Amino acid sequence: MIVTRFAPSPTGLLHLGHAYAAIIAHESGDDFLLRIEDIDKGRSRDKFIQEIFYDLKWMGLSWDEPSLRQSTRMGAYAEALVNLKARGLVYPCFCTRAEIAAEIARAGEAQHGPVPDDLEAAPPGPIYPGTCRALSRDEGMARIAAGASYALRLDVANAVALTGPLTFREAGHVHAVDPFRFGDIVIARKDLPTSYHLAVVVDDAHQQVSLVTRGEDLLTATHIQRLLQALLKLPEPAYAHHPLVLDETGKKFSKRDGAITLQSLREAGATPADIRARIGL
Ligand code: GLU
Repeated sequence: MIVTRFAPSPTGLLHLGHAYAAIIAHESGDDFLLRIEDIDKGRSRDKFIQEIFYDLKWMGLSWDEPSLRQSTRMGAYAEALVNLKARGLVYPCFCTRAEIAAEIARAGEAQHGPVPDDLEAAPPGPIYPGTCRALSRDEGMARIAAGASYALRLDVANAVALTGPLTFREAGHVHAVDPFRFGDIVIARKDLPTSYHLAVVVDDAHQQVSLVTRGEDLLTATHIQRLLQALLKLPEPAYAHHPLVLDETGKKFSKRDGAITLQSLREAGATPADIRARIGL
């Protein structure tokens, strides 16, 4: 039995790109799950969760109830974090340069990277140079005790030494995982016991997702998430990265660009069949 999921973040209304991702997930499995990725309290809104339910039902997509809200799962993420910490795979990072601070702030949310031409991953942003890896344990503890802000990073070199080379499976092909391309990623913050990546792997395992379908702009995430799965001894799902829906100008739909939402299309008289026709499904 194939279990798939649609995992939107409730930080805005769904647009055509989401409709495409949800339909692909719905049609690719036997069981279709809905997971609300609302770990980022500052940006998530309950009203958007209600709109997600409404839009999906309107599109005729039903999911196995209940849906899962990541904000209810902090205990499970904290447990996974303790496991990684206990094995010396995590270190605190106190860097505050603007770029790094922005990276840390974004860690609660999936970073949709550039669309690669093939299955070669491209990093979604600047790579952390590993500055705080060299801090002694005592110094790190002292700064934390003094109330400094920090992120927790995965020591990728130590992690890979434990897991050895990894692969991910997509459409019957086996691809090599390249964990070093992304540097020591943020897996938690002072105020949040998880990051997007950690929450996703813990929940994909918890929900027994066997096929992860998502846009090819999240291919980079798959490399990081396979490493975390191996470290946490979680089952390995298969992956299917689908092309992105592009607008008339060839740009991908994005919440930030104020893409046309399903709600506004509906209000303008579009039917679910019109939506499917518009995205070629
Ligand atoms: N919540 C993520 C997003 O909104 C998707 C996560 C995933 O499919 O792994 O892009």
